[in-house]
Amino acid sequence: MINLAAMKTVKNPLLVTGSVAYDTVETPNGISKRQVGGSASYASIAASYFCKPSLIGIIGEDFTEKQIFETHQIDLSGLQSQSGKTFFWHGKYKNDFKERDTITTELNVFEHFLPSLLPSHQKIEAILLANIHPALQLHTINQIVNPKFIATDTMNLWIETARDNLEKLTKKIHLLIINDEEAEQWTNETNLRKAANILLEKGPEFVIIKLGPDGALLFDNHQERKISAFPVNEVVDPTGAGDTFAGGMMGFLAATSQFDFESIYTAMKYGSSLASFCVEQFGLKKLVGLDANSIHRRVNRIF
Ligand code: AMP
Repeated sequence: MINLAAMKTVKNPLLVTGSVAYDTVETPNGISKRQVGGSASYASIAASYFCKPSLIGIIGEDFTEKQIFETHQIDLSGLQSQSGKTFFWHGKYKNDFKERDTITTELNVFEHFLPSLLPSHQKIEAILLANIHPALQLHTINQIVNPKFIATDTMNLWIETARDNLEKLTKKIHLLIINDEEAEQWTNETNLRKAANILLEKGPEFVIIKLGPDGALLFDNHQERKISAFPVNEVVDPTGAGDTFAGGMMGFLAATSQFDFESIYTAMKYGSSLASFCVEQFGLKKLVGLDANSIHRRVNRIF
């Protein structure tokens, strides 16, 4: 069994960039207003169970919840604070949780955000570009001195509206994380092995295609492997599950400093275990305050 406590004392760094947000989320189980969200929030908290994340992002003067990150020993020296409001997103799920409508996206302080990395951040070798405009993801990695492993998450919006930047970005990364619908949207291919081949040709060495409650697939040019998802009793709020999966997985990889196919396959189980906790409560409620044993117990039930 991998010793999470030992990993935490090693404290390998992971650079995480993405959104820090206030979210209003409506699900068949109720509504949660202005909960802390954002791709980088979920990802960095998940990663913090294994490594020392440095969070690169921006908040407005209305953001009063920095202690959530501080409690998880996340480095906030790259979190800019500006006058104006924090990014705001409002989403509403349909009955089966499979479909989600975006009701509002207010960029607010994100509108003029340009990530500027401190010299200490530029030297970090493991990087997770959580979901954010691909131009900002590109701007971030262009400042990294000697990247060893860059993983990127994205969303349907950017595949539709920022394809050029996304294609420039994929040339420079090692791992692309995407869900099945996005893979199909990007490649016009419903066969996921074929879709993965098209995406691999764009540059990354590995592609992960997430399948929601059915787990996730890992591809490289020679092989593919599937993991299941942990069967939760009740999904309350799936927001951020993908970001949590990516953060947990990259946190684990950064901690072990191994970035080969087998290591990614193992790391996916840790990401999936954390994502299963995430969906059991609104927002970050269940994701904060976990312990190593509970994370392991679920990893052992993912195949
Ligand atoms: P997910 O459920 O994995 O798609 O992630 C949901 C999170 O993404 C929410 O907490 C939102 O704040 C954040 N989000 C939604 N739209 C965007 C966007 N356009 N750019 C960056 N983050 C976003």
